[in-house]
Amino acid sequence: MVLKAIGFFFICLWSADFLSGFFHWMEDTYCLENYPLIGSFICEPNIEHHVDPQLMVRTGTFISRNILQWGLCAGMFGILWCIGLGNPFTFLTLLLTSFGNEVHRWNHMSKTGPFVTFMKDSGLIQMQRQHSMHHKQPHNQYYCVLTSQVNSVLERIKFWRRLEWAIEITTGITPKRENRRDSPSQIKQARAAAMEKAK
Ligand SMILES: [Zn+2]
Ligand SMILES: [Zn+2]
Repeated sequence: MVLKAIGFFFICLWSADFLSGFFHWMEDTYCLENYPLIGSFICEPNIEHHVDPQLMVRTGTFISRNILQWGLCAGMFGILWCIGLGNPFTFLTLLLTSFGNEVHRWNHMSKTGPFVTFMKDSGLIQMQRQHSMHHKQPHNQYYCVLTSQVNSVLERIKFWRRLEWAIEITTGITPKRENRRDSPSQIKQARAAAMEKAK
């Protein structure tokens, strides 16, 4: 019984982690600031996080940081409930997904409490050094923010690159990384412009 409950929890946790990575991958790969509605709401904060990863540590409250995810996950659960898929698995998976941003924030804090530090160091939640790999240009790996295990599998099988390839050959939609303000070439350009201005 206890083992079954632990197994169930981990299946939900890894599913939630995959969901967190999937949405993060979509934002990083296809989202641009000038898109209507989601541009300022989702893409701009996402780009800002790559430019200034510490911003999420310095600003906001527990509620302001997480309310968007709570709302989206509650909405998703509502839809699943309406189509007969509201069950303990979807409930716990979405509940854990809704706290992805908070776990992500812990990985940008230089100091956390002993319990969170233990969970990070033991790999029960994502290890700090793994998330720091995501912050290497061009921000195209280790998208999942809840645990380290799902990322390890997905990176090993080149899941995200293969998914991008499949989307490109079926729909013609290509990754938009190079068109973003956090792309290597645009950061280089911005730095050169700032140097020129400083002369
Ligand atoms: Zn990212
Ligand atoms: Zn981050």
